[in-house]
Amino acid sequence: MSTSEQPISVNVSGISTGPSSVSPQDGSFLTSIIGDNPYFQAGFGLMGVGVGLTVLRQGAMLASTALRRRMLVELEINNKDRAYEWFLAWMAHQTQLASASCPGRSIMSSRRWMASHQLSVETMYEQRKNGSSSVLFKLVAGPGTHWFRYHGAWMQVKRERETRSMQLMSGVPWETLTLTTLSRDRVLFPRLLSEARDLAMKGQEGKLVIHTAWGIEWRPFGQPRRKRPLRSVVLEEGVAETIDQDLKSFLERRQWYADRGIPYRRGYLLYGPPGSGKTSFIQALAGSLSYDICVLNLSERGLTDDKLNHLLSNVPERSFILIEDVDAAFNKRVKTSEDGYQSAVTFSGFLNVLDGVASGEERIIFMTTNHIEKLDPALIRPGRVDLALLVDDASPVQAKTLFRQFYGGDDPQHVAEVAKDEMENLADMLGHLVTAEAKAGRRVSMAALQGLFIRAGPKEASERCTELFVTRRTPSA
Ligand code: ADP
Repeated sequence: MSTSEQPISVNVSGISTGPSSVSPQDGSFLTSIIGDNPYFQAGFGLMGVGVGLTVLRQGAMLASTALRRRMLVELEINNKDRAYEWFLAWMAHQTQLASASCPGRSIMSSRRWMASHQLSVETMYEQRKNGSSSVLFKLVAGPGTHWFRYHGAWMQVKRERETRSMQLMSGVPWETLTLTTLSRDRVLFPRLLSEARDLAMKGQEGKLVIHTAWGIEWRPFGQPRRKRPLRSVVLEEGVAETIDQDLKSFLERRQWYADRGIPYRRGYLLYGPPGSGKTSFIQALAGSLSYDICVLNLSERGLTDDKLNHLLSNVPERSFILIEDVDAAFNKRVKTSEDGYQSAVTFSGFLNVLDGVASGEERIIFMTTNHIEKLDPALIRPGRVDLALLVDDASPVQAKTLFRQFYGGDDPQHVAEVAKDEMENLADMLGHLVTAEAKAGRRVSMAALQGLFIRAGPKEASERCTELFVTRRTPSA
């Protein structure tokens, strides 16, 4: 028996067939199964096709990766980077321009073309201390793929959101924007980013940016506002100057603080009745120094000591922190609001945050309150509050100055109604009225006067201003 004719033993699917079951005349058992069995043939055929396709697909993927590497360039921006917001705002701006210039179409110019069909909304909510609130919607390119043309180059923007992991503390999901274009057009990236940055800066130039807390991050709230001239907020003589000088001298002494290892921070408390100009003054002062304002609401839902600490340690550069109605957050220590929500910031936590670990960063905090008597003395200690000043109802001089500011200009309507020297007499009369009413314990707020001056002309205002006085006890420090 030749070797080729030796009986073989094959294991197919675990079944052993011994020599007895195969006769030498049958030839190879395997060959017979494969050769004669149509199922095996078809199976092998399909496998061959499958393998072939896999190889082809892998080849195509490798080729496309190689091609992408060679021909395309990608730029990744994540939402920790400032360019992220700038770029989204830039895209939204281009889309707005596009729809304004060609309603119904996305083509805006030969230079650019935007086609964002997946939008996402960023809702910003601000609750003001007088109970009013504003909500702003910002429409930006949503997660997904978008295309646009920039200076003749096609660009793809992919906005992706990582839903499985969140940014530590803030709970905000990680996001990335990936811009892809042809390698030869890579020079356009810096140009595009500079344009987005310039657009963001232009919107802020000469304006006051208000930031609000968003989780544990500060984000600009709404559009930057026009700066208010400092002199338009009329305070009692010396008050504005005292704060202004104190702040300026603080800002000049960074090195002095550093040399002595003193934390570089300053706290101001403005107290007094509502509508006396505390907030307006802080905003005007920030504007005059080209500072931004970070408004912190201690009663905000979900704010804890830890988050507060993080927020105050990560204030944007050149910003005042403004805490309005600081008494309201703690006067009952554990405050439960109407909706049953309990603020999670504790008074001791707040004090700790104010004292904070010395960092080289400057920190300027402004607090306001209508009820200084309700504040815990521990809060008004130097280091936490370095300068506390009363901003009161209208004094005779303030009332007169505000009157002149409203009617003393060259507004033809007012000039026609009252001659210039008569205007001065009316201002003096208002001053006398404020003095007389104050003797009777009645005061008028600057906000109330402003309201009247907006509604009425000079004559009517001077006649009707007696109605505005209310009995008030001025809080004392
Ligand atoms: P406060 O913070 O003391 O409650 P606001 O600054 O919010 O007062 O002022 C409320 C409104 O009244 C603002 O529109 C502001 O223009 C006006 N107002 C209040 N006080 C003054 C002031 N001293 N000078 C000019 N306007 C004032």
